[in-house]
Amino acid sequence: MNDGLWEQRWHPLREEWVIIAAHRNSRPWNGATIGVIPPEASPSYASDCYLCPRNSRVNGAVNSNYSNIFVFDNDLPCVGPFAPVHLNSPLGTINRNSPALGKSRVVCYSPLHNTTLAEQSQSEILLLLECWQQQYCELGARPEVNHVLTFENKGKAVGVSNPHPHCQIYATNFVFKTIALEVDVCRRHWRESGRVLFEDILESEQIDGRRIVAECDSAIAFVPYFARYAYETFIAPKMAYPSIAHLSGSELQDLAYVLKEVLVRYDNMWQISFPYVLVLHQAPTDGKAAEGFHFHVEIHPPLRTPQLMKYLAGPELGGGSFLSDTSPEEKAAELKAQPTLHYKQSVEALAL
Ligand SMILES: [Zn+2]
Ligand SMILES: [Zn+2]
Repeated sequence: MNDGLWEQRWHPLREEWVIIAAHRNSRPWNGATIGVIPPEASPSYASDCYLCPRNSRVNGAVNSNYSNIFVFDNDLPCVGPFAPVHLNSPLGTINRNSPALGKSRVVCYSPLHNTTLAEQSQSEILLLLECWQQQYCELGARPEVNHVLTFENKGKAVGVSNPHPHCQIYATNFVFKTIALEVDVCRRHWRESGRVLFEDILESEQIDGRRIVAECDSAIAFVPYFARYAYETFIAPKMAYPSIAHLSGSELQDLAYVLKEVLVRYDNMWQISFPYVLVLHQAPTDGKAAEGFHFHVEIHPPLRTPQLMKYLAGPELGGGSFLSDTSPEEKAAELKAQPTLHYKQSVEALAL
């Protein structure tokens, strides 16, 4: 089939059109390129890393001698409990302001400085998912917290200078815009049709089948029909739950399995540590029922090829519509073609 090269596709969760222009992917390029980052022989411990065990952080606190996962309050938070509550009103009639309160945490995945989530075992990934469950419950229960945003920025291509595997959690008094939109859209779909919107998306993906990258009993990973980024992948339990905290032990294991499958394939594709922004889309904790909301993980990779970044420019920043230079079907096929043993581990196996 030759579709997906030049068309608009409807993004039902964002209620916007995505312009697929895959025929442009091979156009001449004279701009900046990101070089392929060769596999680095970085050490398992770095004395100048503020995330490694036993090291001091910027505020003088010392990390514990942790052995698997380590959580601490961010020393330089974007949102914090000490944000001013009494603000000066801005001038003019249209300008408004409001306190930006919250709690910001860092979760280290491993004491090893030189590993990544993709290289961790399924049982180690499961520990992380359990930590995400616990953090959602604990932070979401705080009266001032209306939303818990858990995300991992990975790689220099998304501005991360420290390779130590970690993610961040922003627990805030406000609901982040994309989540608020998804909650509204899912609620409307639920009220109008009696159906969970994300289940309709899953059903469409199952009927087509070409974009499903990994699947097991209770979890699934796919490049959505309406993907905005090359290799963008959604990972979700098949049952509709408002958050990760609602998954059973076996559902969490399945989610760990599918997540690992995707991350290993990412790395194997170009034999690099594949950069991405990974975000958990979970229902707000503001006390309102998020009818028809279905927890899922979205991964947004910034690279179109090992050398080319997807820059947000005129269409996206200027016009507000996303232009994708790649075909979701082709990108899913590339991912599916990858082996599920991490390339570093297969090199190690050969060396034995
Ligand atoms: Zn480190
Ligand atoms: Zn989402």
